[in-house]
Amino acid sequence: MAKTMLIELEQVNKIYNRGKANEVRALRDVDLRVAAGELVCLKGPSGSGKSTLLAIIGCVFPPSSGRAAIAGRQLARLPDRFLTIHRRETIGFIFQRFNLLPALSVRDNIILPLLPLGVPPKECRRRARVLLERLGIAHRENFPAGRISGGELQRVAIARALINNQPLILADEPTAHLDSRLSHEFMAIMAELKAAGKTIIITSHDPLVAEHPAIDRVVEVHDGRVGDTAPEDHA
Ligand code: ADP
Repeated sequence: MAKTMLIELEQVNKIYNRGKANEVRALRDVDLRVAAGELVCLKGPSGSGKSTLLAIIGCVFPPSSGRAAIAGRQLARLPDRFLTIHRRETIGFIFQRFNLLPALSVRDNIILPLLPLGVPPKECRRRARVLLERLGIAHRENFPAGRISGGELQRVAIARALINNQPLILADEPTAHLDSRLSHEFMAIMAELKAAGKTIIITSHDPLVAEHPAIDRVVEVHDGRVGDTAPEDHA
């Protein structure tokens, strides 16, 4: 059976401030296909276009030109409101500094993405509990996020990215502010999620990410262009 493609980019370009003096061509003729269940590292120097690529894959905005289909939907054809709905249903984001709200409880941080979807509170709590158990932080459910350890915070951020059972997880430089123990732990959780069928894209400079055995592919981004390499080329 043919593999299901979760991400299909064809000749994608992204131009910021088009036609103005400060015009930037951030992505140039990018072709990228990622199959369901792959764990991919996007690697490249600062300013190369990784975040822009992640934003298009993350349905934050459509490309300036070219075709971008994420989970079977062509982004350019979706009006803004539907792009937002598609994003919520399809993508879980893990941010570099985790972006948790310190005064809210661990549980409330995890269920935040469900609020605009109108999921009943009881169902929110049930889903949160399942993930808290799975990630080994059930004992922190009612703690304010500001009062838990770095390793626990990372698990809360991961739980939040999984709460709507999204098939695609995107993580932007997730290990940039972590020590090596927590970085290893992060990658071990990503490997488990991949084994459970998630598709995961991680942008990173960190060799610990790019060379992790669970990484299927490293995609190099340079000057807005992409090229693939096998992970063993980076060993
Ligand atoms: P990376 O994530 O690899 O650091 P980015 O995708 O953030 O790269 O940036 C690629 C290029 O696009 C850079 O030249 C950056 O300055 C430019 N850029 C990124 N975001 C914007 C924006 N919102 N407006 C204008 N230029 C931008």
